[in-house]
Amino acid sequence: MRGPDALGTLPSPSDLTRAVLDRCAAAGFERSGIATPEPSAYQRELHEWLEAGKQGTMAWLAEHLHVRTDPGRLLRGSRAIVMVAARYAGRGDADAATPEGHGRIARYARGSDYHRAFKKRLHAICDELREAHPGHECRAFTDIEPMPERELAARAGIGWIGKHTLVIEPRLGSWLALGGFATTLPLEAPPEQRTVPDHCGTCTRCIDACPTGCITPYSVDASRCISYLTIERREAIASDVQGRVGNWLFGCDVCQEVCPHNSVRGGDAGGSLGIPEVAGERRTLGLLDVLGWTPEDRTAALPNSVIKRATLLTLKRNAIVVIGNQLARRRDEGLVGRVRAIAADPDEPMLLRETAAGVLARLRVEAASSPIDRTRSDGHRSGK
Ligand code: SF4
Ligand code: SF4
Repeated sequence: MRGPDALGTLPSPSDLTRAVLDRCAAAGFERSGIATPEPSAYQRELHEWLEAGKQGTMAWLAEHLHVRTDPGRLLRGSRAIVMVAARYAGRGDADAATPEGHGRIARYARGSDYHRAFKKRLHAICDELREAHPGHECRAFTDIEPMPERELAARAGIGWIGKHTLVIEPRLGSWLALGGFATTLPLEAPPEQRTVPDHCGTCTRCIDACPTGCITPYSVDASRCISYLTIERREAIASDVQGRVGNWLFGCDVCQEVCPHNSVRGGDAGGSLGIPEVAGERRTLGLLDVLGWTPEDRTAALPNSVIKRATLLTLKRNAIVVIGNQLARRRDEGLVGRVRAIAADPDEPMLLRETAAGVLARLRVEAASSPIDRTRSDGHRSGK
């Protein structure tokens, strides 16, 4: 790895840029590039999206709009934004059928929290640059800060923004976490950096497969997205949407699973992951385990995990919804009894009691209107 001396002694912006991008690669970032700190080209779309309420209860998305629409304002005097990307899963990463009694975890949350892994590396690079170039500043960001990361990644030549609104790198696919840092250093796009053209073409697979139908080309109604519903939404999930949640306990990967750019092609799967700890094998969690967790159990079961972004109450609500979806496919008296017990227990939080009561009501209606279909084994399309 290059040290501060190597970064500090380089004379020209192009050489300094080369050194910074090499340092990013040495840190494990699989792609990096330089974005200009210009205002967003999607300001009107963002305002319309917010005015339509598509952010759901994520009120923070309407905050710090001066930065979200003008990323150069994250750091006074910004002259460049270094964008980085690393995979949390490889192309062709497919899940086996979800075992009954388990809920699925989105791929980005199966290993160590990528925010921490990215920040540790980005802060180290920023510290080196500050030390090597006194008077210059850097400010790192990863998801939490109000930066238009996907637009910046596209601007930095990392990939294009697909119709599902996620960045697709032509060789690596879209299982990518993003981050970066703004800097006052005079970095410039290297000669080989190119804008990646949109390769979605006439494909509509993600739109067709989305269980809640919340994708229109290049826009997602987050208020109906399962990732939002199972992670960020603290209130009840509407009963008419619960069936569409399928087996997802935390997040949703359907639109990325069906994308042809995430399939294995010609043996070119991108090799091993640059930051391996962000990938993981925690593909599911036991639903009854989650329902039995205390706060201490949750902490112990999810060390260094982004799953803790969802509160314990949210995870338990999700577990009841998923149990209901599995019971709609296959009757299990033990699970029915557990849901009944929650609905009747005055010591359970109201959110859980109401969710359980709603599941029981839905099962009664479905049982009365049609025989239980025992042939369906995969819940994530159950709303289609
Ligand atoms: S994450 Fe799931 S619900 Fe959200 S847009 Fe993608 S497929 Fe639809
Ligand atoms: S599934 Fe098709 S339309 Fe959707 S992002 Fe992938 S290539 Fe684009």
